[in-house]
Amino acid sequence: MDIQVTPEGKIEWLCDACSGVIADEDGAIWCDAVAGQGREEEILKWHESHTGAVPIDQFLDAPGDLEWASLHFACFAEGKCGPYSIEVERIRSLADVLVWSNHLLGKTWISTATNWGLIMKEIGIAGGSKEL
Ligand SMILES: [Zn+2]
Repeated sequence: MDIQVTPEGKIEWLCDACSGVIADEDGAIWCDAVAGQGREEEILKWHESHTGAVPIDQFLDAPGDLEWASLHFACFAEGKCGPYSIEVERIRSLADVLVWSNHLLGKTWISTATNWGLIMKEIGIAGGSKEL
């Protein structure tokens, strides 16, 4: 997912399919809630069965995070992502990201099984914060 933040602090979402800027009412960021809930279960089971030191080959086979996608409605391919979405005009400022994050992180599958945390970091850095 590519994200830009203007000097005025407006978040510009770029389409994962065509790389174009997504205008208001022309697209959304998406994540598959059903797959996310399944992935959360898979990740929790993996951690229960891999405690202590884990050999690198097993670590590399651990289930990874589901990725959010940003897409124009016209570029959305049925089946690529599920219906859990935020229209881009509803998440345009850093303040919007904080409020949405507060809402999203109340759903354990989002914090456990998706890359929302990485997206928050990328938006913060694109908005001028330093990487820790
Ligand atoms: Zn597109």
